[in-house]
Amino acid sequence: MSEKEAIKCSFCGKDKKDVFMMIGGLNGHICNQCIEQAQKIVDEEYKQRLQPNKIQLTKPAEIKRRLDEYIIDQDEAKKVMSVAVYNHYKRIMQKKSDKKGEDDEVEIEKSNIILIGETGTGKTLLAQTIARILNVPFCIADATAFTEAGYVGEDVENVLVRLLQAANYDVAAAERGIVFIDEIDKISRKEGDSPSITRDVGGEGVQQALLKMLEGSIVNVPPQGGRKHPEQKTIPVNTKEILFVCGGAFNGIEKKIARRVQSHAIGYFSAAEKHDIDRGNMLQYVSPEDLKSFGLIPELIGRLPVITYLSPLSKESLKRILTEPKNALIKQYTKLFAIDGIKLTLDKSVYNLIVEKALEYKLGARGLRAICEAILTDAMFETPSKADVKEFHVSLRYAKDKIDRSAALNRLKAA
Ligand code: ADP
Repeated sequence: MSEKEAIKCSFCGKDKKDVFMMIGGLNGHICNQCIEQAQKIVDEEYKQRLQPNKIQLTKPAEIKRRLDEYIIDQDEAKKVMSVAVYNHYKRIMQKKSDKKGEDDEVEIEKSNIILIGETGTGKTLLAQTIARILNVPFCIADATAFTEAGYVGEDVENVLVRLLQAANYDVAAAERGIVFIDEIDKISRKEGDSPSITRDVGGEGVQQALLKMLEGSIVNVPPQGGRKHPEQKTIPVNTKEILFVCGGAFNGIEKKIARRVQSHAIGYFSAAEKHDIDRGNMLQYVSPEDLKSFGLIPELIGRLPVITYLSPLSKESLKRILTEPKNALIKQYTKLFAIDGIKLTLDKSVYNLIVEKALEYKLGARGLRAICEAILTDAMFETPSKADVKEFHVSLRYAKDKIDRSAALNRLKAA
C-alpha cells in the first residue's frame, strides 16, 4: 500500500481520494468537509460567547398566548404586560445598536410595571410566567421586609442578592432579569404622616430607597446578602436593564378611584359616558393619581409607568384554575399519585366544594391549594404504603370530612 493511499481523515475516516482536500498535521489529517463542519461549530460558539444570554425577542401576541396556557382570565393585565415586556427588551436591544453608532435621538424609557389586584389573583404568577417564557432570571421580594438603610430589617438592595442567586451569580444574566416586589402598597405613606418630623421606617423612607434601584443605577450587592460592612466584598450590579414589576392589593383603592372618576364625571364626562362607568369593576380605571392618594410618592409612581389591574376571580374562573392551566393543581396532584401507581379521581361536586371554600376564605386562587392539601394530605400519607391501592377516589363526603377536620384550614379561618 502506497503512502498516498493510506491517508485518511482522522476525524471522519474518509479517504483522501474521496474528498476535495486533506490537510496534514503532526499526527493526523483533516478533510475539507470536517474543516467546514468544525468552522460552523466554532462560529456558533463565538456567537454565543459574544452575546451571552442573548435575548430572544418574543412578540407580544406570542407572550400573551403563552401566558394564556398558565393564567386564567386577567386578559387586560396579560396584554399590558406582554407589550411592556416586549418594549422593555426592545429598548435593551435598541441601546445595543445605538452603541454601534446609529444616530438616533429617541431614547426609549424603562417600563417598570405596577400590578393592582386582590391577593391570589395571579400577580406573582404573571411576573413569574413572563420570566419563564423569556428565560430570564426571576426573584420575588416582599416590600414589607424592606427598611431604610440604618434601620433593623432588610436593605432594599438585598433584592438583587436574590436575583444574582437566581442567575447563578452570572451578573450579566441578572442584569436583564425580572424582579417582582410584592406588597408595594404596604409601604405607603400613612395619612397624616409628616416625614420631616417622624422618622418613617416602613413607608416613605423605603419608597425613597427603592427609587434609585428602579430607575437604574449601579448597586453594590453583598453576595451573601445581609448588611453591608466595609470589609465585605460587593458585586456591582447595574439595574438599568432589570425589569421591576411591583404588585399590591391596594385595599380600598376602588373608593379613591370612584371618588376621582365621579368628580371628573361632573366636569368632563357627558351624561352618556357617566352611564357607561362600570361600577362593578372600578380597578379598570386606576390611574397614577389614585396611587398617589393611596400613599405612594409621585417619584416612585413616575418610575412605574405601566399600570394595570387584575380582577377578583369568579367562581367559574377558580374552577377553571383547578383543572385547566398547564400546571393546574389537580393535574399536579394527579401526577403525584400517578408516581405511586395510583389513579386519582374526584367527584365533580368536589371541585365546586373546593371553589366555594376558597371564596369563603377570601384568598383568591391562593386558597385552592390549602383546601386541596386539606382534602388529600391523609391519602398522600397513607396510600404510598399500601401496595394494593391502585385507585383513589375523592367523594364529596370524604372531601367535606377532611376539610372540617383540617387543623390548617381552621387556623386559616381563625386568621
Ligand atoms: P398574588 O400574587 O396576586 O397574590 P399569586 O400569583 O401568588 O397571587 O397566586 C397564588 C396562586 O394561585 C398561584 O400559585 C396560582 O397557582 C394561582 N392563581 C392565581 N391566579 C391565577 C390565575 N389567574 N390563573 C391561574 N392560576 C392562578
